Amino acid sequence: MPVLQFDNVSKHYPGGQVALAEVSFAVEPGEMLFVTGRSGAGKSTLLRLIHLLERPSRGAVLFQDRNLARVRGAGIARHRRQIGVVHQHHRLLADRTVEDNVALPLVLRGLRRHEIGKRVWHLLDRLGLGARAKALPGQLSAGEQQRVGIARAVIAEPCLLIADEPTGNLDPALSAEIMTLLAGLPERGTSVLVASHDLMLVKRMRKRVLVLEQGRLVDDIAPEELADA
Ligand code: ADP
Ligand code: ADP
Repeated sequence: MPVLQFDNVSKHYPGGQVALAEVSFAVEPGEMLFVTGRSGAGKSTLLRLIHLLERPSRGAVLFQDRNLARVRGAGIARHRRQIGVVHQHHRLLADRTVEDNVALPLVLRGLRRHEIGKRVWHLLDRLGLGARAKALPGQLSAGEQQRVGIARAVIAEPCLLIADEPTGNLDPALSAEIMTLLAGLPERGTSVLVASHDLMLVKRMRKRVLVLEQGRLVDDIAPEELADA
């Protein structure tokens, strides 16, 4: 069963042009893929539909075989808890330590303090952030801040991780490091969907690539096809 499925999805904003037009694809458990395309191609819109920040004008988005059109009210928060989100501007809480920022999704799920502490320290350690646990986000470099953002997105082991231009603020070397982290960090079974306009960087990752052009899905490139990119 796919984790995520777009079935002929179109999205028109009120008074706006077509943001997505008849887009169909499926994402399998544990699969990592990129969505690329120029600014305005529809990448953010695609992610916003998954996170229920927007609704399709036509077609259906299915999450674990459930049509998201039927998810309403309190179901929306429940749906969002199954998805980890990495933002371009990490959106860390400035007045909370690294440790507290990463712990937040587990606190919201009502885990016990001891269990939260163990899981947070283990993850920060894996990310090379162990020494920064007590720091405030403002005391970190841009790359470190983004790693904390990723830690917060994966700590609760979501079945899907989505990232919108996660390297938008970073130089090329750091960008490659963050992409590699996104590819390798999530638990096995977590699917990862990353939107990025940086086609060169995306191709180097040798993963499946969906290409959007003015809202249309014009290419779906398999990793094997990127072998000599
Ligand atoms: P991308 O993430 O690839 O830059 P977007 O999904 O943000 O693309 O935008 C796709 C198209 O939809 C663009 O033409 C954009 O201007 C338009 N758009 C995005 N959000 C809105 C909105 N809230 N209202 C009206 N138009 C929007
Ligand atoms: P972020 O860096 O947070 O992804 P964006 O610049 O992509 O910010 O978009 C900020 C907001 O503006 C989003 O809610 C998006 O839907 C909205 N937006 C984007 N394009 C348009 C547009 N043409 N008209 C109205 N709203 C838009």
